[in-house]
Amino acid sequence: MVPAESRRLLTAELLSIGTEITVGDTRDTNAGELARSLTARGVEVRRLSAVPDDLPTVTAAFGTALERADLVISTGGLGPTPDDLTREAIAAVCGESPAVDPDLEAWLRQLWARRGIAFPELNLKQAWLIPSATSLANPNGTAPGWFVSRPDGRLIVAMPGPPREMRPMWSDEVVPRLEARGLGRPVAARTYRLAGIGESQVAELLGETMLRAANPLVATYARAEAVDVRISAVAESDRSADDLVEAAATVVLGHLGTYIWATGETSWSDAIAERLGQLGWTLSAVEIGTGGALGALFADLAALRFDESIALEAPAATAHRPSAEPDTDAPDDDAQIHDLARYAHLARELGGSEVGLAVRARPRTGDMAVSIVVALPAGDRHVRRAVFLTGQMGRMRAALSAASFLLEVLREQT
Ligand code: AMP
Ligand code: MG
Repeated sequence: MVPAESRRLLTAELLSIGTEITVGDTRDTNAGELARSLTARGVEVRRLSAVPDDLPTVTAAFGTALERADLVISTGGLGPTPDDLTREAIAAVCGESPAVDPDLEAWLRQLWARRGIAFPELNLKQAWLIPSATSLANPNGTAPGWFVSRPDGRLIVAMPGPPREMRPMWSDEVVPRLEARGLGRPVAARTYRLAGIGESQVAELLGETMLRAANPLVATYARAEAVDVRISAVAESDRSADDLVEAAATVVLGHLGTYIWATGETSWSDAIAERLGQLGWTLSAVEIGTGGALGALFADLAALRFDESIALEAPAATAHRPSAEPDTDAPDDDAQIHDLARYAHLARELGGSEVGLAVRARPRTGDMAVSIVVALPAGDRHVRRAVFLTGQMGRMRAALSAASFLLEVLREQT
Protein backbone atom coordinates (compact mmCIF):
# COMPACT_ATOMS: atom_id res chain seq x y z
CA MET A 1 0.00 0.00 0.00
CA VAL A 2 1.28 3.45 -0.90
CA PRO A 3 1.66 5.46 2.29
CA ALA A 4 -0.86 8.26 2.60
CA GLU A 5 0.56 11.70 1.71
CA SER A 6 3.03 10.20 -0.79
CA ARG A 7 0.51 9.18 -3.43
CA ARG A 8 0.59 11.73 -6.22
CA LEU A 9 -2.86 12.73 -7.48
CA LEU A 10 -2.75 11.88 -11.17
CA THR A 11 -6.28 10.68 -11.94
CA ALA A 12 -9.64 12.05 -10.91
CA GLU A 13 -13.33 11.25 -11.19
CA LEU A 14 -16.08 13.79 -10.72
CA LEU A 15 -19.43 13.03 -9.18
CA SER A 16 -22.43 15.33 -9.48
CA ILE A 17 -24.98 14.43 -6.87
CA GLY A 18 -28.65 15.35 -6.97
CA THR A 19 -31.91 14.23 -8.51
CA GLU A 20 -32.38 17.76 -9.88
CA ILE A 21 -29.50 16.94 -12.24
CA THR A 22 -30.57 13.43 -13.28
CA VAL A 23 -34.11 14.63 -14.06
CA GLY A 24 -32.73 17.53 -16.09
CA ASP A 25 -33.92 20.44 -13.93
CA THR A 26 -30.41 21.65 -13.11
CA ARG A 27 -27.61 21.78 -15.64
CA ASP A 28 -24.43 20.28 -14.29
CA THR A 29 -21.94 23.10 -14.71
CA ASN A 30 -19.79 22.10 -11.72
CA ALA A 31 -18.30 18.97 -13.27
CA GLY A 32 -17.23 20.76 -16.44
CA GLU A 33 -15.60 23.60 -14.52
CA LEU A 34 -13.76 21.22 -12.24
CA ALA A 35 -12.68 19.02 -15.15
CA ARG A 36 -11.20 22.03 -16.91
CA SER A 37 -9.37 23.18 -13.81
CA LEU A 38 -7.97 19.71 -13.09
CA THR A 39 -6.93 19.11 -16.70
CA ALA A 40 -5.04 22.40 -16.74
CA ARG A 41 -3.17 21.14 -13.67
CA GLY A 42 -2.10 17.95 -15.42
CA VAL A 43 -4.64 15.65 -13.78
CA GLU A 44 -6.26 13.05 -16.00
CA VAL A 45 -10.01 13.30 -15.48
CA ARG A 46 -11.29 9.82 -16.29
CA ARG A 47 -15.02 10.13 -15.76
CA LEU A 48 -17.83 12.58 -14.94
CA SER A 49 -20.95 10.98 -13.48
CA ALA A 50 -24.26 12.25 -12.19
CA VAL A 51 -26.36 10.32 -9.69
CA PRO A 52 -29.75 10.90 -8.04
CA ASP A 53 -30.30 11.44 -4.31
CA ASP A 54 -30.43 7.74 -3.49
CA LEU A 55 -28.12 6.44 -0.77
CA PRO A 56 -27.18 3.05 -2.28
CA THR A 57 -26.55 4.69 -5.68
CA VAL A 58 -24.44 7.52 -4.26
CA THR A 59 -22.49 5.12 -2.03
CA ALA A 60 -21.79 2.79 -4.95
CA ALA A 61 -20.72 5.72 -7.11
CA PHE A 62 -18.15 6.83 -4.51
CA GLY A 63 -16.98 3.25 -4.02
CA THR A 64 -16.33 2.47 -7.67
CA ALA A 65 -14.85 5.90 -8.43
CA LEU A 66 -12.44 5.43 -5.55
CA GLU A 67 -11.26 2.12 -7.01
CA ARG A 68 -10.37 3.81 -10.29
CA ALA A 69 -9.03 7.25 -9.40
CA ASP A 70 -6.62 8.88 -6.99
CA LEU A 71 -9.04 11.70 -6.40
CA VAL A 72 -12.84 11.68 -6.26
CA ILE A 73 -14.53 15.05 -6.19
CA SER A 74 -18.25 15.45 -5.59
CA THR A 75 -20.56 18.42 -5.65
CA GLY A 76 -24.07 18.52 -4.24
CA GLY A 77 -25.96 16.63 -1.58
CA LEU A 78 -24.54 18.62 1.35
CA GLY A 79 -27.79 20.40 2.16
CA PRO A 80 -29.60 19.97 5.50
CA THR A 81 -32.58 18.00 4.20
CA PRO A 82 -33.01 14.22 4.32
CA ASP A 83 -32.52 13.94 0.55
CA ASP A 84 -28.97 15.31 0.84
CA LEU A 85 -26.99 12.12 1.42
CA THR A 86 -23.40 12.79 0.40
CA ARG A 87 -22.06 12.67 3.97
CA GLU A 88 -23.87 9.40 4.70
CA ALA A 89 -22.51 7.87 1.48
CA ILE A 90 -18.89 8.86 2.18
CA ALA A 91 -19.19 7.60 5.76
CA ALA A 92 -20.46 4.27 4.45
CA VAL A 93 -17.65 3.97 1.89
CA CYS A 94 -15.07 4.72 4.60
CA GLY A 95 -16.79 2.45 7.14
CA GLU A 96 -17.00 5.28 9.64
CA SER A 97 -19.81 6.93 11.59
CA PRO A 98 -20.53 10.64 11.38
CA ALA A 99 -20.55 12.68 14.57
CA VAL A 100 -21.31 16.33 15.23
CA ASP A 101 -18.11 18.37 15.28
CA PRO A 102 -18.32 20.92 18.13
CA ASP A 103 -16.48 23.67 16.22
CA LEU A 104 -18.69 23.30 13.17
CA GLU A 105 -21.77 23.21 15.39
CA ALA A 106 -20.74 26.44 17.12
CA TRP A 107 -20.07 28.08 13.75
CA LEU A 108 -23.44 26.98 12.39
CA ARG A 109 -25.41 28.05 15.49
CA GLN A 110 -23.93 31.54 15.41
CA LEU A 111 -25.03 31.96 11.77
CA TRP A 112 -28.61 31.81 13.02
CA ALA A 113 -28.00 33.47 16.38
CA ARG A 114 -26.61 36.61 14.78
CA ARG A 115 -29.83 36.99 12.83
CA GLY A 116 -31.86 36.29 15.97
CA ILE A 117 -33.49 33.15 14.54
CA ALA A 118 -33.89 29.80 16.28
CA PHE A 119 -31.44 27.20 14.93
CA PRO A 120 -33.28 24.57 12.86
CA GLU A 121 -32.05 21.26 14.28
CA LEU A 122 -32.27 19.79 10.79
CA ASN A 123 -29.13 21.79 9.96
CA LEU A 124 -27.10 20.03 12.63
CA LYS A 125 -26.24 17.47 9.96
CA GLN A 126 -24.11 20.12 8.30
CA ALA A 127 -21.84 20.03 11.37
CA TRP A 128 -21.10 16.32 10.89
CA LEU A 129 -17.62 14.95 10.31
CA ILE A 130 -16.13 11.49 10.16
CA PRO A 131 -12.67 10.79 11.64
CA SER A 132 -11.05 10.71 8.17
CA ALA A 133 -12.53 14.06 7.15
CA THR A 134 -11.51 17.61 7.77
CA SER A 135 -13.96 20.38 7.01
CA LEU A 136 -13.61 22.95 4.26
CA ALA A 137 -14.80 26.44 5.11
CA ASN A 138 -17.84 27.75 3.27
CA PRO A 139 -18.13 31.52 3.74
CA ASN A 140 -21.03 31.64 1.26
CA GLY A 141 -23.43 29.11 2.74
CA THR A 142 -24.18 26.71 5.55
CA ALA A 143 -22.65 23.56 4.07
CA PRO A 144 -18.98 23.00 4.90
CA GLY A 145 -17.10 20.75 2.51
CA TRP A 146 -15.34 17.52 3.40
CA PHE A 147 -11.71 16.67 2.66
CA VAL A 148 -11.32 12.95 3.25
CA SER A 149 -8.00 11.06 3.27
CA ARG A 150 -8.09 7.32 2.63
CA PRO A 151 -5.40 5.08 4.16
CA ASP A 152 -3.89 4.40 0.71
CA GLY A 153 -3.43 8.11 -0.04
CA ARG A 154 -6.51 8.51 -2.21
CA LEU A 155 -8.74 11.46 -1.50
CA ILE A 156 -12.43 12.28 -1.53
CA VAL A 157 -13.42 15.93 -1.71
CA ALA A 158 -17.09 16.85 -1.22
CA MET A 159 -18.27 20.36 -2.02
CA PRO A 160 -21.72 21.98 -2.00
CA GLY A 161 -23.73 22.10 -5.23
CA PRO A 162 -24.45 25.83 -5.67
CA PRO A 163 -21.73 27.14 -7.98
CA ARG A 164 -21.32 30.34 -5.99
CA GLU A 165 -20.39 28.23 -2.97
CA MET A 166 -18.46 25.57 -4.87
CA ARG A 167 -16.16 27.88 -6.87
CA PRO A 168 -14.54 29.78 -3.97
CA MET A 169 -14.28 26.59 -1.92
CA TRP A 170 -12.49 24.93 -4.84
CA SER A 171 -9.97 27.68 -5.42
CA ASP A 172 -9.43 28.82 -1.81
CA GLU A 173 -9.74 25.60 0.18
CA VAL A 174 -9.33 22.60 -2.08
CA VAL A 175 -6.70 23.48 -4.70
CA PRO A 176 -4.05 24.57 -2.13
CA ARG A 177 -4.57 21.33 -0.17
CA LEU A 178 -4.35 19.21 -3.31
CA GLU A 179 -1.24 21.00 -4.49
CA ALA A 180 0.37 20.38 -1.12
CA ARG A 181 -0.28 16.66 -1.68
CA GLY A 182 1.22 16.69 -5.19
CA LEU A 183 -1.33 17.37 -7.90
CA GLY A 184 -0.99 16.28 -11.51
CA ARG A 185 1.98 16.30 -13.85
CA PRO A 186 3.61 19.14 -15.78
CA VAL A 187 1.51 19.93 -18.82
CA ALA A 188 1.93 21.94 -21.97
CA ALA A 189 -0.63 22.88 -24.60
CA ARG A 190 -0.85 24.88 -27.78
CA THR A 191 -3.78 25.68 -30.04
CA TYR A 192 -3.62 26.53 -33.73
CA ARG A 193 -6.59 28.28 -35.31
CA LEU A 194 -7.38 27.36 -38.90
CA ALA A 195 -9.56 28.87 -41.61
CA GLY A 196 -10.50 27.79 -45.11
CA ILE A 197 -10.57 24.10 -44.22
CA GLY A 198 -13.16 21.80 -42.65
CA GLU A 199 -12.66 19.67 -39.56
CA SER A 200 -12.82 16.38 -41.46
CA GLN A 201 -10.20 17.58 -43.94
CA VAL A 202 -8.00 18.57 -41.01
CA ALA A 203 -8.46 15.10 -39.52
CA GLU A 204 -7.61 13.49 -42.86
CA LEU A 205 -4.39 15.48 -43.22
CA LEU A 206 -3.30 14.77 -39.65
CA GLY A 207 -4.04 11.06 -39.96
CA GLU A 208 -5.56 8.57 -37.55
CA THR A 209 -2.30 7.68 -35.80
CA MET A 210 -1.75 11.22 -34.65
CA LEU A 211 -5.39 11.80 -33.65
CA ARG A 212 -5.58 8.58 -31.64
CA ALA A 213 -2.35 9.03 -29.70
CA ALA A 214 -2.86 9.79 -26.00
CA ASN A 215 0.32 11.77 -25.37
CA PRO A 216 0.80 14.17 -27.03
CA LEU A 217 -2.91 14.51 -27.54
CA VAL A 218 -3.94 16.20 -30.78
CA ALA A 219 -7.62 17.16 -30.95
CA THR A 220 -9.66 19.09 -33.48
CA TYR A 221 -12.57 21.34 -32.56
CA ALA A 222 -14.98 22.81 -35.10
CA ARG A 223 -15.88 26.19 -33.64
CA ALA A 224 -17.94 28.96 -35.21
CA GLU A 225 -14.91 31.15 -35.95
CA ALA A 226 -12.26 28.53 -36.69
CA VAL A 227 -11.27 24.91 -36.73
CA ASP A 228 -8.94 24.63 -33.75
CA VAL A 229 -6.19 22.07 -33.51
CA ARG A 230 -5.19 21.67 -29.88
CA ILE A 231 -2.00 19.88 -28.95
CA SER A 232 -1.49 18.97 -25.31
CA ALA A 233 0.95 16.75 -23.47
CA VAL A 234 1.90 15.66 -20.00
CA ALA A 235 5.53 15.10 -19.11
CA GLU A 236 6.90 11.57 -19.43
CA SER A 237 9.89 10.23 -17.56
CA ASP A 238 12.27 10.97 -20.43
CA ARG A 239 10.59 13.92 -22.20
CA SER A 240 9.19 17.19 -21.02
CA ALA A 241 5.65 18.23 -21.87
CA ASP A 242 7.02 21.15 -23.91
CA ASP A 243 9.19 18.80 -26.00
CA LEU A 244 6.26 16.53 -26.72
CA VAL A 245 4.07 19.47 -27.80
CA GLU A 246 6.87 20.89 -29.92
CA ALA A 247 7.35 17.60 -31.78
CA ALA A 248 3.63 17.32 -32.57
CA ALA A 249 3.50 21.02 -33.53
CA THR A 250 6.17 20.46 -36.17
CA VAL A 251 4.03 17.78 -37.79
CA VAL A 252 0.85 19.87 -37.54
CA LEU A 253 2.58 22.89 -39.09
CA GLY A 254 3.91 20.70 -41.89
CA HIS A 255 0.45 19.46 -42.84
CA LEU A 256 -1.67 22.51 -42.07
CA GLY A 257 0.63 25.52 -41.88
CA THR A 258 -1.02 27.31 -44.79
CA TYR A 259 -4.44 27.27 -43.06
CA ILE A 260 -3.26 28.60 -39.70
CA TRP A 261 -4.18 32.22 -39.00
CA ALA A 262 -3.63 32.44 -35.26
CA THR A 263 -2.70 30.60 -32.09
CA GLY A 264 -4.33 30.29 -28.69
CA GLU A 265 -7.56 32.17 -28.11
CA THR A 266 -6.87 34.93 -30.62
CA SER A 267 -10.10 36.17 -32.21
CA TRP A 268 -10.45 37.57 -35.74
CA SER A 269 -10.70 41.02 -34.20
CA ASP A 270 -7.49 40.43 -32.23
CA ALA A 271 -5.55 39.18 -35.26
CA ILE A 272 -6.75 41.96 -37.56
CA ALA A 273 -6.22 44.63 -34.89
CA GLU A 274 -2.67 43.40 -34.37
CA ARG A 275 -1.84 43.52 -38.09
CA LEU A 276 -3.49 46.95 -38.53
CA GLY A 277 -1.51 48.18 -35.54
CA GLN A 278 1.76 47.01 -37.10
CA LEU A 279 0.90 48.83 -40.30
CA GLY A 280 -0.39 51.89 -38.44
CA TRP A 281 -3.64 51.69 -40.37
CA THR A 282 -7.35 51.80 -39.59
CA LEU A 283 -10.19 49.93 -41.29
CA SER A 284 -13.61 50.93 -42.58
CA ALA A 285 -16.06 48.25 -43.61
CA VAL A 286 -19.36 47.80 -45.38
CA GLU A 287 -21.39 44.60 -45.32
CA ILE A 288 -24.31 43.75 -47.57
CA GLY A 289 -26.50 40.69 -47.14
CA THR A 290 -24.70 39.48 -44.03
CA GLY A 291 -27.23 40.84 -41.54
CA GLY A 292 -24.64 42.57 -39.38
CA ALA A 293 -22.50 39.44 -38.95
CA LEU A 294 -19.32 41.31 -39.89
CA GLY A 295 -20.14 44.12 -37.46
CA ALA A 296 -20.68 41.57 -34.71
CA LEU A 297 -17.40 39.86 -35.54
CA PHE A 298 -15.55 43.19 -35.43
CA ALA A 299 -17.51 44.55 -32.44
CA ASP A 300 -14.41 45.03 -30.30
CA LEU A 301 -12.11 46.13 -33.10
CA ALA A 302 -10.91 49.57 -32.03
CA ALA A 303 -9.40 50.30 -35.44
CA LEU A 304 -12.84 50.02 -37.10
CA ARG A 305 -13.98 53.44 -38.27
CA PHE A 306 -17.20 52.87 -40.11
CA ASP A 307 -19.75 50.12 -40.63
CA GLU A 308 -22.78 49.14 -42.64
CA SER A 309 -25.26 51.47 -41.00
CA ILE A 310 -24.29 54.31 -43.31
CA ALA A 311 -24.02 52.17 -46.41
CA LEU A 312 -27.52 50.77 -45.95
CA GLU A 313 -28.85 54.21 -46.80
CA ALA A 314 -27.20 53.99 -50.19
CA PRO A 315 -29.45 52.85 -53.06
CA ALA A 316 -27.14 50.21 -54.53
CA ALA A 317 -26.74 48.57 -51.13
CA THR A 318 -30.49 48.53 -50.64
CA ALA A 319 -30.84 46.80 -53.99
CA HIS A 320 -28.69 43.99 -52.65
CA ARG A 321 -30.63 43.41 -49.44
CA PRO A 322 -31.04 39.66 -48.90
CA SER A 323 -34.85 39.78 -49.11
CA ALA A 324 -34.65 41.41 -52.56
CA GLU A 325 -32.09 38.85 -53.67
CA PRO A 326 -33.13 36.26 -56.26
CA ASP A 327 -31.78 32.77 -55.70
CA THR A 328 -29.75 32.74 -58.86
CA ASP A 329 -26.87 30.82 -60.30
CA ALA A 330 -25.41 33.84 -62.01
CA PRO A 331 -21.96 34.52 -60.58
CA ASP A 332 -20.91 38.04 -59.74
CA ASP A 333 -19.55 39.48 -62.91
CA ASP A 334 -16.82 42.06 -63.14
CA ALA A 335 -19.36 44.88 -63.18
CA GLN A 336 -20.73 43.68 -59.82
CA ILE A 337 -17.26 43.46 -58.30
CA HIS A 338 -16.73 46.98 -59.62
CA ASP A 339 -19.92 48.05 -57.78
CA LEU A 340 -18.71 46.45 -54.58
CA ALA A 341 -15.30 48.09 -54.95
CA ARG A 342 -17.08 51.46 -54.97
CA TYR A 343 -18.44 50.62 -51.53
CA ALA A 344 -15.00 49.69 -50.28
CA HIS A 345 -13.70 53.04 -51.57
CA LEU A 346 -16.65 54.93 -50.13
CA ALA A 347 -16.19 53.27 -46.72
CA ARG A 348 -12.52 54.12 -46.73
CA GLU A 349 -13.24 57.71 -47.66
CA LEU A 350 -16.05 58.20 -45.12
CA GLY A 351 -14.07 56.53 -42.36
CA GLY A 352 -10.82 58.25 -43.26
CA SER A 353 -9.05 54.88 -43.21
CA GLU A 354 -6.19 53.34 -45.16
CA VAL A 355 -8.19 50.14 -45.65
CA GLY A 356 -11.75 49.77 -46.95
CA LEU A 357 -13.51 46.40 -46.80
CA ALA A 358 -16.73 45.58 -48.60
CA VAL A 359 -18.44 42.21 -48.44
CA ARG A 360 -21.63 41.08 -50.13
CA ALA A 361 -23.32 37.73 -49.53
CA ARG A 362 -26.11 36.28 -51.61
CA PRO A 363 -27.94 32.97 -51.25
CA ARG A 364 -27.27 30.66 -54.17
CA THR A 365 -28.51 27.07 -54.42
CA GLY A 366 -28.57 26.56 -50.68
CA ASP A 367 -25.20 28.17 -50.01
CA MET A 368 -23.88 31.71 -49.92
CA ALA A 369 -21.97 33.34 -52.76
CA VAL A 370 -19.63 35.85 -51.18
CA SER A 371 -17.80 38.69 -52.87
CA ILE A 372 -15.12 40.56 -50.98
CA VAL A 373 -13.17 43.67 -51.92
CA VAL A 374 -10.31 45.10 -49.89
CA ALA A 375 -9.26 48.60 -50.93
CA LEU A 376 -5.67 49.36 -49.93
CA PRO A 377 -3.18 52.14 -50.51
CA ALA A 378 -1.47 49.79 -53.01
CA GLY A 379 -4.73 49.11 -54.90
CA ASP A 380 -7.76 46.82 -54.70
CA ARG A 381 -7.85 43.12 -54.04
CA HIS A 382 -10.94 41.02 -54.51
CA VAL A 383 -12.12 37.46 -54.25
CA ARG A 384 -15.31 35.45 -54.72
CA ARG A 385 -16.02 32.53 -52.47
CA ALA A 386 -18.84 30.13 -51.73
CA VAL A 387 -19.62 29.32 -48.11
CA PHE A 388 -21.73 26.45 -46.76
CA LEU A 389 -25.45 27.08 -46.07
CA THR A 390 -27.58 30.22 -46.05
CA GLY A 391 -29.46 31.86 -43.15
CA GLN A 392 -27.68 32.86 -40.00
CA MET A 393 -24.94 30.25 -40.40
CA GLY A 394 -24.28 31.27 -43.98
CA ARG A 395 -24.17 34.98 -43.09
CA MET A 396 -21.76 34.26 -40.25
CA ARG A 397 -19.52 32.20 -42.54
CA ALA A 398 -19.61 34.97 -45.14
CA ALA A 399 -18.38 37.45 -42.54
CA LEU A 400 -15.67 35.03 -41.42
CA SER A 401 -14.63 34.58 -45.02
CA ALA A 402 -14.28 38.37 -45.34
CA ALA A 403 -12.24 38.57 -42.14
CA SER A 404 -10.03 35.76 -43.38
CA PHE A 405 -9.40 37.38 -46.79
CA LEU A 406 -8.78 40.74 -45.12
CA LEU A 407 -6.19 39.27 -42.75
CA GLU A 408 -4.50 37.38 -45.59
CA VAL A 409 -4.22 40.56 -47.67
CA LEU A 410 -3.09 42.70 -44.72
CA ARG A 411 -0.31 40.23 -43.97
CA GLU A 412 1.00 40.68 -47.52
CA GLN A 413 1.28 44.47 -47.13
CA THR A 414 4.56 46.01 -46.14
P1 AMP B 1 -27.16 20.69 -2.97
O1 AMP B 1 -25.78 20.93 -2.45
O2 AMP B 1 -27.34 19.30 -3.47
O3 AMP B 1 -28.22 21.05 -1.96
O4 AMP B 1 -27.39 21.62 -4.25
C1 AMP B 1 -28.08 22.83 -4.13
C2 AMP B 1 -28.23 23.53 -5.47
O5 AMP B 1 -26.99 23.69 -6.12
C3 AMP B 1 -29.05 22.80 -6.51
O6 AMP B 1 -30.42 22.97 -6.34
C4 AMP B 1 -28.59 23.43 -7.78
O7 AMP B 1 -29.20 24.68 -8.00
C5 AMP B 1 -27.12 23.66 -7.51
N1 AMP B 1 -26.32 22.57 -8.05
C6 AMP B 1 -26.16 21.36 -7.50
N2 AMP B 1 -25.34 20.59 -8.23
C7 AMP B 1 -24.97 21.35 -9.29
C8 AMP B 1 -24.12 21.11 -10.42
N3 AMP B 1 -23.50 19.93 -10.57
N4 AMP B 1 -23.96 22.11 -11.31
C9 AMP B 1 -24.59 23.29 -11.13
N5 AMP B 1 -25.39 23.56 -10.09
C10 AMP B 1 -25.60 22.61 -9.18
MG1 MG C 1 -29.25 18.28 -3.38
